[in-house]
Amino acid sequence: MSTIHIHNSLSGKKEAFTPLKEGKVGMYVCGPTVYQDVHLGNCRTFTSFDVIYRYLMYQGFKVRYVRNITDAGHLVGDVDTGAEDKMTKAARLEMLEPMEIAQKYTLGFHKMMDVFNNLPPSIEPRATGHITEQIRMVKDILHNGYGYEVNGSVYFNTIKFAQDNDVYGKLSGKIIDDLLAESRDDLKNQDEKRHPSDFAIWIKAEPKHLQQWESPWGPGFPGWHLECSAMSTKYLGTEFDIHGGGNDLKFPHHENEIAQNCGACGQSPARYWMHANMLLLNGKKMSKSAGNSVMPEELFSGNNDFFSKAYSPMVIRFFMLQAHYKSTLDLSDDALLAAEKGYHRLMEAHQSLQGLSYSGQGNASKEDEEINTLLNQAFADMDDDFNTAKALSRLFTLVNKINSFKSGHISLDTITETTFNRLKKEFSDFIFNILGLLDETQGGGSGNGEVVNGLMDLVINIRQHARSSKDWTTSDQIRDKLNELSITIKDGSEGSTWKID
Ligand code: AMP
Ligand code: ZN
Repeated sequence: MSTIHIHNSLSGKKEAFTPLKEGKVGMYVCGPTVYQDVHLGNCRTFTSFDVIYRYLMYQGFKVRYVRNITDAGHLVGDVDTGAEDKMTKAARLEMLEPMEIAQKYTLGFHKMMDVFNNLPPSIEPRATGHITEQIRMVKDILHNGYGYEVNGSVYFNTIKFAQDNDVYGKLSGKIIDDLLAESRDDLKNQDEKRHPSDFAIWIKAEPKHLQQWESPWGPGFPGWHLECSAMSTKYLGTEFDIHGGGNDLKFPHHENEIAQNCGACGQSPARYWMHANMLLLNGKKMSKSAGNSVMPEELFSGNNDFFSKAYSPMVIRFFMLQAHYKSTLDLSDDALLAAEKGYHRLMEAHQSLQGLSYSGQGNASKEDEEINTLLNQAFADMDDDFNTAKALSRLFTLVNKINSFKSGHISLDTITETTFNRLKKEFSDFIFNILGLLDETQGGGSGNGEVVNGLMDLVINIRQHARSSKDWTTSDQIRDKLNELSITIKDGSEGSTWKID
């Protein structure tokens, strides 16, 4: 197992990754609030963590990946001037039950994750299914002196917490002296909260609020930050390995999660905090409320104002992987056109490589060393904070080599059979298992691409046998049947080749 280095947002440094339990990883990623369809920006963050999940598994870790569904408690607007719950607002606008809203958009989210070939998490807990755990956490926070109740709501006391612990503000870089200074100036503006940075962990529900539960403080609902604290603790323990989410969740969401966990359990939850950077459109963070979001379907259909044509899900996934997860990424027509070319070159090289059989003499030369070095470097790039951008650039140098082998420009004599087999296996592993791409040019799956290649080798072999024994009926039958499936076979002096029309 190689040593992976992770940029830890908590220390601001790249650190060697040592899991709490050898060979196992507990990873929690904040999931979507299911009150509307996910836009491409959301999809980028989930894809970033999908690759991290895949790579950890590829390296042999047993990963428990928990990604929640937020279906209650996420407020929109200003809390002080009448914020509304996102689920309640959507339910009102669409004239549906909040749980119908949750169901509708959870299904849509799952479908989109599938389309982008993001693996499902090991556990997908939802906030409304964990009210008991959240109430217990509020009680613990109150018991430990870090919360206070006012008129049916419970607030987290950030000032007391900051005085007792030096963790508050660490993740987001907020300076606690500023928070303390504010406490003197702004107290008069607060009605229930003792300090502006205090936040609600339990919110009193007015009778008209659609989602509410009984609690020791009266009917109410949990604050948004609380669900992630309660569910990560339940499924991964009070301390676990990795906590992830989009950059924009650092503050207040993740900062407050740390405060809640420390306040309730006396333990900072995650050892490594990872933040994926934003997808931008015209240089600005893609967001629905800012009116600059692109929905995945709009790109798949080409039906949108920003782009000249349609792009397939795998071209978009490839486009996302061309950037490191910690860099911002600008969505543009030019970038997608380039990604489309790159994606097809990669898939074609993969098909060429799978179609090659080793015909060398087992000599090792400079070429052999270069191929091994490039493969090692691609893995080293992934070990270095999951740098898919750099790993892809190594794969493209390998694409040039593969194309040269195919054209005969470089002879397979220059590499050993071991290197040839390694290249075949790891090039394919990288594209499909680690980067999670699918071969759309071969009718779908990674897996499918390989299966189709394997099946076609078999079919062509059987047909070759039939031809050698002059069994023209079987040979023609196979060709005609394949034709019906839009697969053309071309017979040449070197054997038969096939292509999907
Ligand atoms: P939400 O449903 O708003 O909680 O967002 C779900 C996830 O998408 C969170 O991890 C956000 O940080 C992330 N996210 C939101 N906007 C973008 C964006 N423009 N680019 C990348 N990730 C985003
Ligand atoms: Zn969260």
